[in-house]
Amino acid sequence: MSTKPVHAPTDQFPTHANCLHLGGIALTQLAERVGQTPFYAYDRALLSARVTSLRAALPAGIELHYAMKANPMSAVVQHMAGLVDGLDVASGRELRVALDTGMNPARISFAGPGKSETELRQAIASGITLNVESERELERAATQGQQLGLRPRVAVRVNPDYELKSSGMKMGGGPKQFGIDAERVPDVLSRIGQLDLDFEGFHIFWGSQNLKPEAIIEAHDQTFALAYRLAEHAPSALRTLNIGGGFGIPYFPGESRLDLAPIADNLARHLPQTASRLPGAAVVIELGRYLVGEAGVYVCRVIDKKVSRGHTYLVTDGGLHHHLSASGNFGQVIRKNYPVAIGNRMDGARETVSVVGPLCTPLDLLGDKMDLPAAQVGDLVVVFQSGAYGLTASPTGFLSHPEPTEVLV
Ligand SMILES: *Cc1c(COP(=O)(O)O)cnc(C)c1O
Repeated sequence: MSTKPVHAPTDQFPTHANCLHLGGIALTQLAERVGQTPFYAYDRALLSARVTSLRAALPAGIELHYAMKANPMSAVVQHMAGLVDGLDVASGRELRVALDTGMNPARISFAGPGKSETELRQAIASGITLNVESERELERAATQGQQLGLRPRVAVRVNPDYELKSSGMKMGGGPKQFGIDAERVPDVLSRIGQLDLDFEGFHIFWGSQNLKPEAIIEAHDQTFALAYRLAEHAPSALRTLNIGGGFGIPYFPGESRLDLAPIADNLARHLPQTASRLPGAAVVIELGRYLVGEAGVYVCRVIDKKVSRGHTYLVTDGGLHHHLSASGNFGQVIRKNYPVAIGNRMDGARETVSVVGPLCTPLDLLGDKMDLPAAQVGDLVVVFQSGAYGLTASPTGFLSHPEPTEVLV
């Protein structure tokens, strides 16, 4: 077994006889079983291992939720539901998938601006927690609750009054379409007290894809402090304090895995204070990418290999229509290569190639000028770190090529 560095961590997938293995199966064999390329494959054992190691690292008493939008494939969600303490959904359709897992509705929460009347009704009828994103949404939820004869369970999504200083995607602080500005929250809490609503707690989400422990620690410090301040205005005791997620995974050269130890130490310092200031409140961390991102690969096949003025292209049957983020077009400012391998040719003489797809746009690039084992037509190109924000974050209708499939192995 060798684990050839492919420039970001791909160490969780073993190689035997020059072929990458997933879920104990050689990739070539898996491709035959799947019966088509391209496909996404997610590794069940790696999903489980990630949750186990995260739980071992974090202090006991932190609850773990899976944010489904990272990967809403129903088999993946079903598997995750057996491992985590709750599910976070972002639409009515995700809600249905979450409920189908049998997860206790009290452990499902629904965040996202612009929830439709139908989604509000579904959420209230099923007894899940609505993470309320605006004052209008709060009023709508109360009205719908009245009509349904049910008491909606609501948490206030707070747009914090601090902003993350370092890298990562900022989802809170300053003006945002998410949540209710922290300075408005005291009034909103008193309004909740006037309406027939069941107050669950706070949801404070500040960012995503962060690899810097010191930034996450700072966000946590500020999040707890804000929660204590706002809790003084709460109509009833908090049952849940959702402190967001934001844990990132390494994608690009020079990035390494997040060091959880300092984050866990800091949380362990906070928890006793939380227990005394917010007695009975569960502290929840919600994660998408961190839980599933490294457990998945995207696999496509080399259809053509051509040289244009000295530059070699591997033309594959996969591309940005299936995997927008690997193409660098999912909000990235500077395009960088995801880790890529030739899955059935993990070793051998190497060459510099660009891996492209079948679309009529130069944006359709899965790997730019990468050093890979010399591939042949029919070989399988593997894009790692593809378990999150892959298929459902991609414009599959663009150019009307066939849809890729997904398997959980
Ligand atoms: C997207 C999202 C998440 C998950 O973010 P990751 O970076 O995938 O962990 C968690 N919570 C909320 C509210 C989100 O919108």
